[in-house]
Amino acid sequence: MTLAATAPVHADVREFLGRNRQLLIDGEWVDSASGRTFPTYDPATGEKLTEVAHGQAEDVHRAVAAARRAFEDGPWARMKPNQREQLIWRVGDLLTAKAEIFGQLEALDNGKSAGIAQVVDTGWAADVFRYYAGWSTKIEGSTVDVSMPFAPEGSQFHAYTLREPVGVCGQIVPWNFPLLMTAWKIAPAIAAGNTVVLKPAEQTPLTALLLGELFEEAGFPPGVVNIVTGYGDAGAAIAAHDDVDKVAFTGSTEVGKLIVDAARGNLKKVSLELGGKSPNVVFADADLDIAVPGSLNAWLFNHGQCCVAGTRLYVEDTIFEEFTHAVADAASQVKIGPGLDPSTQLGPMVSQEQFDRVSRYLSEGIADGARALTGGKRWGDEGYFIEPTVFVDCKPESSIVREEIFGPVVAALPFSAEHGVAAVANDSEYGLAAGIWTRDISKAHRTARQLKAGSVWINQYNGFDTAMPFGGFKQSGWGRELGAEAIGLYTQTKSVNVAL
Ligand code: NAD
Repeated sequence: MTLAATAPVHADVREFLGRNRQLLIDGEWVDSASGRTFPTYDPATGEKLTEVAHGQAEDVHRAVAAARRAFEDGPWARMKPNQREQLIWRVGDLLTAKAEIFGQLEALDNGKSAGIAQVVDTGWAADVFRYYAGWSTKIEGSTVDVSMPFAPEGSQFHAYTLREPVGVCGQIVPWNFPLLMTAWKIAPAIAAGNTVVLKPAEQTPLTALLLGELFEEAGFPPGVVNIVTGYGDAGAAIAAHDDVDKVAFTGSTEVGKLIVDAARGNLKKVSLELGGKSPNVVFADADLDIAVPGSLNAWLFNHGQCCVAGTRLYVEDTIFEEFTHAVADAASQVKIGPGLDPSTQLGPMVSQEQFDRVSRYLSEGIADGARALTGGKRWGDEGYFIEPTVFVDCKPESSIVREEIFGPVVAALPFSAEHGVAAVANDSEYGLAAGIWTRDISKAHRTARQLKAGSVWINQYNGFDTAMPFGGFKQSGWGRELGAEAIGLYTQTKSVNVAL
C-alpha cells in the first residue's frame, strides 16, 4: 500500500507533506542550526511522509531566548487576560474548522484511525483550548486577614496574594496522542500567561507543527509558542536549560527520571505524566453487556498505546472463563487496517521499534506459560500491525503482568474476593488509572477508595474530561494536568503585605 493508494487524502494534507517542515522560533519558520533534517514515517506502510528539521541544543537555546523575550518584554507580557482568552479560543475554533486535516495528518504520522483522530484527538484538543481560554480571566489571588503578632499595637496591614505565571515553560510530549498531549501542555500554560518551548515526539512531529501555524493565524505575538522538533537530546536540552523555569513532561517513567535529574541545575519546577500498568477489576455482579465492550476499550483503545490502558484485567473467578472468552471473541472481530481506511478500528504500532517491543512481550508471555485466547502474533506481512491479544494463565511475576507493553495486549487474572482484589490491583510500581465494573454501588465506592490510582472509572473506562484533574500516583508521575489543577502547575503565588 502506498500513500497514493490511501486516497482520498485531503489536498491540504498533501500540501503540508509536500514541503520539509521547519522549526517555529520567535514567530518564524526556520531551519535547524545544523541544517539537518530527519524523516517521519507512515507506520501503516513504513514509507517516508516528509522530512522535519532536526532541532538540537542550539535550536532549543534560540527558542528559549525567544520565549524569554516574549515573556519579559513582548506584547504578550502586557496583554490583558481577556485578550489572551480570545486568542486561545480562536485556536480552538481553528482546530474545529480544520479537524479533518488534523485527523488525516495524525492518522498518517501515528497510524491511528483518521476518524478517531478527527473526533477524539482533534475534537478534544479544541475543547482543551476553549476550556483554558476561559481560565485566562479566572486566575485569582486572595486577601488575607493577617495578625502580624510582632507588629506594634494598632498597626494595620493589607495582605494579599497574586497568582503569577511561572515564566518560560519547556514541554516535552510523546507519540501516542501527539496533538492532544500538545494541547494539554500548551493551553493551560499560555492561559496563565507563560511562554513555551514545545518538543514533539520524533516519531510524530507533524500535527504539532500544523498546530504551530494556527497560533500564527490566530494572531499570537512571536515567541509565545515555539516548537522544536528533534530527538531525546533536544528534550534533554530543554530539561537542563537554566533559563527554563518549568518543565512539563509526558512520556516513559524511565525518561521522567532523567528529566528530574536534568532539572536540578536551576531547580526548575517539574511536572510528570508517566507510564502505567492499570488494573481493570470486573466483579461477578457486573452488567456484562457493558463490561465486555468497556473492558475491551480499556486495553485496546489507541491500539493499546495509552498510558492509562487497563492491561491487567482482574475478573472474579466465578465469571472468569465466560468473561475472558467474551472479551477475546470481541477482540478477534476488531477490524485491523491503516488509519486512513474508514472501517479501521485497530491500526499499526507507531514504529518498528514499538512493533519489536510488543513482539518481544508476546514471546515472553508465552515463554512464561501464558496462553493467548486470541492473537499472540503479527497481523499481515506489511506495516507494524499486531493482533489484539488476550492472555490467560498469567503468572503475577511475569513481565506481561508487571511491565508497560504499550500495545494491544491484555493479561487476564482471576480473583476470588472483594477484600483481596485491591491488594493485587495495587501491586504495581505505577498508579495512573483503574477501572471497576459492578452493579453494587457501595462495593464500587469502597473499592475506588482502596485503589492507588490517579483516576478511577466505575462502569466505564477512559472516562476523561477536560475539567477533571489527571495524573499519577507512585511512579506514574508528579502533579495533575487538566482541570483547575493545571493552572496551579503553570502559576506561582506571590504574597504581598502592605503596612498601611
Ligand atoms: P519517551 O519517554 O521515550 O519519550 C517521550 C518524549 O521524551 C519524546 O518527545 C522523546 O523525544 C523525549 N525524550 C527522550 N529522551 C529524553 C531525555 N533524555 N530528556 C528529555 N526528553 C527526552 O516515551 P514514548 O515512548 O514516546 O511514550 C510512551 C510513554 O509515554 C509510555 O510510557 C506512556 O505510558 C507514557 N505516556 C504517559 C501519559 C500520561 O499522561 N501519563 C500519556 C501518554 C504517554
